[in-house]
Amino acid sequence: MEDRDSRRWGQKGTAGATFAGLLEFEHVSKRFGRTAAVQDVSLTLEPGEIACLLGPSGCGKTTLLRIAAGIERPDSGRLLFDGQEMAGPSRFVPPEKRNIGLMFQDFALFPHLSIIDNVAFGLKNLPREEALKIARHALERVGLARYAANYPHHLSGGEQQRVALARAVVPRPQVMLMDEPFSGLDQRLRESVRAETLTLLRETRASCLLVTHDPVEAMGLADRIFLMRQGNLVQSGTPEQLYRHPADAAAARFFSDTNEVKGLVQGSAVVTPLGRFPLPRGGNGREALVLIRPQGLKRAAEGEGIEGLVTEARFQGDDVKCTVLFNGLEEPLTALIHSRSAPSRGNAAWFRIDPEHVFVFDSATSQPIS
Ligand code: ATP
Repeated sequence: MEDRDSRRWGQKGTAGATFAGLLEFEHVSKRFGRTAAVQDVSLTLEPGEIACLLGPSGCGKTTLLRIAAGIERPDSGRLLFDGQEMAGPSRFVPPEKRNIGLMFQDFALFPHLSIIDNVAFGLKNLPREEALKIARHALERVGLARYAANYPHHLSGGEQQRVALARAVVPRPQVMLMDEPFSGLDQRLRESVRAETLTLLRETRASCLLVTHDPVEAMGLADRIFLMRQGNLVQSGTPEQLYRHPADAAAARFFSDTNEVKGLVQGSAVVTPLGRFPLPRGGNGREALVLIRPQGLKRAAEGEGIEGLVTEARFQGDDVKCTVLFNGLEEPLTALIHSRSAPSRGNAAWFRIDPEHVFVFDSATSQPIS
C-alpha cells in the first residue's frame, strides 16, 4: 500500500516529476532602517538538497527566506533560480511566478475550505477533477485521506501541519521554503512530523531551504547547514562539519553546552589547570580559550587523569549531569557521564578529557588556533 502510494506520488503531479531547483544568493544585503538584517550573504542551495538556515533570533534567517520567496526585495545583490535572475538591480520576479512552495510558522489553512480543498488550492490551473485526485493522493500520502471532507478545526495541530505540508508540495515546486514549520508542535509530535516531512521532501525531490533556531533540528534534517549571526553567514557545511569544526567560539557554543577554561599557548600546546592540550602549530604567549563539551569529560580509573570533587550529580536517564570542582579552576565544570559509571555527589572522582570534544580558540579573536 505504502509502495503504491509512493509511486503515485512520484508520478502524478501537476506536470509530472519535479526538477529540483538550484537557488543562489549572490552578495545579498537587506536593511530595515538602521538594522542590517542581512549583510552580503552568498550561498547556494544545490538541486535536491535540504539545507537549514540556522541561527539565534534576529540573525536574518527569515529575511533571507522572504527574499528567496519574493516577499522582500534585496537592497543589493542577486537571487537566482536555475541561473535565472529572480531579484537583482534590474529585475524582480513576483512570488507567484517563482516555482516555489512556502510553509511558514503559522501554516494557516483556510478555515472555510475543506481539507481536500485546502490541499487542492494551489492547483487552480488544473481541471477540478484532476486537482482533487492529486490532492487526495497527497492526503493519502500523509495518512489523512479520511479527513478529506472535514474542516481544519476538526484536526489536531500535527494533522493540520501535515495538511499544510501536502498543500505546499502538490504543485510540485522546485524549491520549498519553510520557516520554523514545526515550532507550533509539542516535542513528540514535532519529531514525527519532522520525520514525515523529510521523507516527503526526498520523495518529491524538491530542493528545500528551512529556517530554524534549533541546532538539533538542523542536524536532524539538513544535508547542509548555513549558520548565521547578526545578518552574516558565519559557516556552512554538513552538520558533522559544523559540530566537529566550529568556525569560532560562538559557533561551538551554539551547538552544545560548553565548559570554558583559560589557558596560555606554550610551544605546540595550550597549558591550563586541567593539563596540556596539544595544538597542530604553536605560538608562544597567546591567551587561549579552551571549550570542552560536557560529554567530553569522561570518568577515568582512580589515579588516572585529573581528580575532581563532585559537588552535584543529577540523574537524567541515560546520563548523569555532574558538577565538578577541579584544582586551579575558579568555576566548576559540567560533566555528562553515562549513568552506569557516574560518580555520586560529595565524592572525589577521576576524569579524562576526550580531545574530540575540545576546541581551542584565540582569546582575542575567538578564531580557532591551528
Ligand atoms: P527570528 O528567528 O526571531 O524570526 P530571524 O533570524 O528570522 O529571527 P529576521 O526576522 O530576519 O531574523 O530579522 C532580522 C532583523 O531584521 C531583526 O533585527 C528584525 O527585528 C529586523 N526586521 C525584520 N523584518 C523587519 C521589518 N519588516 N521591519 C523592521 N525590522 C525588521
